[in-house]
Amino acid sequence: MTNTSARFLIVGPQGSGKGTQGVRIAESFGIPVVSTGDIFRANIKEGTDLGKKVQAITAAGNLVSDELTGELVRDRLAQNDAQPGFLLDGYPRNRAQVAHLDEFLAGRGEELDAVIELDVPRAESIERLSLRAQEQGRADDTDEAIAHRLDIYERETAPILAVYGEKGIVDKIDGVGSLDEITARIMDALAARGFTPATA
Ligand code: AMP
Repeated sequence: MTNTSARFLIVGPQGSGKGTQGVRIAESFGIPVVSTGDIFRANIKEGTDLGKKVQAITAAGNLVSDELTGELVRDRLAQNDAQPGFLLDGYPRNRAQVAHLDEFLAGRGEELDAVIELDVPRAESIERLSLRAQEQGRADDTDEAIAHRLDIYERETAPILAVYGEKGIVDKIDGVGSLDEITARIMDALAARGFTPATA
């Protein structure tokens, strides 16, 4: 059986490659990636009011308020291109955001279909993030901010997997390997749930 909707979430520590894999998976399914981190970075770059509000918070590796982030995601998911499906990256990031998202989706008669957990050891994440810092110079890729963001991930974000795990929608994917290997693992897990891209 092939599912018609494709509402996915990708979760993993910073440096797990979730951004890269998220784009690949979303492209295969013809759905948009909704990345709160990307939206914040674009606003900071353009100097919008939202960007000014969140600049210092994101640079320190802290979380932007649930209220502001929730509003942003609701607006984005209301757009036309997100109606057939979407891949969320970086949201929800704590239990309060899970409750908020689930309530919002339930109001539309929807729910998340699958949660992809990218499993990467902390040491490997730190190594990848340090490399990215040299290559891209992201403001939140300093040693201090990296450690802080990984702590927040372990404390606040990892527990959301238990919530979705109870619903039986989490696939834990080994995030160590080549980009293509990891994409194939994710696509296999989604196929096992009945999610295959229309063109495949
Ligand atoms: P990311 O690219 O997903 O690591 O996000 C970069 C930064 O944006 C994070 O360190 C937070 O400061 C902020 N951010 C992104 N998503 C969220 C979210 N769901 N809740 C709060 N802050 C967020």
